[in-house]
Amino acid sequence: MITNKEKLLDLFCRLVSCDSPSYGENAVRDAVISELKSLGISVEEDGTAEKTGGTCGNLYAKIDGDPSLAPVLLSAHLDTVEPSVGKKAVVHPDGLISSAKDTVLGADDAAGLTSILHAIRNVIEKGVSHRPVELVFDVCEERYCVGIQKFDYSKISAKQVYVLDVDGRVGRAATQAPSIVQYKAVFNGRAAHSGFSPEEGLHAIKTAAEAISKISCGRTGDMTVNIGSVSGGIADNIVPPECTVTGEIRGFNNEKVAAKTDEIGALMKSVAEKNGLSCDFSRTVICRAFKTGETSEICRNYAEACKKSGVIPEFIKTYGASTNNHWSEWGFCGLVISCGMNNCHSVEEWTTADELCRSAEIVYNIITDCKG
Ligand SMILES: [Zn+2]
Repeated sequence: MITNKEKLLDLFCRLVSCDSPSYGENAVRDAVISELKSLGISVEEDGTAEKTGGTCGNLYAKIDGDPSLAPVLLSAHLDTVEPSVGKKAVVHPDGLISSAKDTVLGADDAAGLTSILHAIRNVIEKGVSHRPVELVFDVCEERYCVGIQKFDYSKISAKQVYVLDVDGRVGRAATQAPSIVQYKAVFNGRAAHSGFSPEEGLHAIKTAAEAISKISCGRTGDMTVNIGSVSGGIADNIVPPECTVTGEIRGFNNEKVAAKTDEIGALMKSVAEKNGLSCDFSRTVICRAFKTGETSEICRNYAEACKKSGVIPEFIKTYGASTNNHWSEWGFCGLVISCGMNNCHSVEEWTTADELCRSAEIVYNIITDCKG
């Protein structure tokens, strides 16, 4: 059972009050380090800032525990989405916590950081026996997990990873997340004066539009396709020589997503060629899908940790990526668990003191009760 709800709330409010844009997480880093220092835990910062041009690298800490128990890795991200500068937690009399509505609250992911740090405080202050714990607090997560991809995962001894980064009721855990591929198609036509010699032009925008009209967007089965941006053209009296179309594809099967990307690329090229243009098609694999079986040890451990606090566990699949996509690719077995954030990525974001406590308590149970 965790105690000291006031300290937990105070920590959450302090973390929220730190400016924490992606590439500028130094203030929240300092707050996290001072919290861990006050518990006698030293923290390493890796060299990611030099590689990204940001103000902060990923943080790593290790807390020795009972060596006969399996170590566990707990992770949350340091950055938040915008608008975030000057954010402040407003604690309402009924326990609801919101922003002042001119910024996000940043419970994504201050709720995750708070849950982990407060659970660790309880474990240490109570002197209870616990699993060895490793902590990773990564940067630039909101920019397609830029920070974690630069992290040296070879230093991790744990096999089980809990990423605290899912919205909704505490007790939810994502066992599946998609592969995400971004694509870019550049249609190369030919400029001409649209009044004097339109027949000499090759219309890049019209050709892109023809290709776009043949692509089905939205959800098909367990895959989604989107066209996210179209840009091109120079002036109203010039046949546009270039048009760029970008979009993304998500799905739970890596091969199917790759095949869909190939299909879209081939279609865009063939429409371009039919009209006498060329098309340069490229893709970026943002992350690969993961699936953690619901009968796996980590799911059983998590369910047990929830039940111990009277919380009903619920395993879900999410269309959002997290750092666990990368942990999974590196061979770790992970879950992305909820930690009390709601309406994320909006100024309407909220949490409650009770949910933060429940989340911290589940982390406490994971560290102290489960044998891994
Ligand atoms: Zn997040």
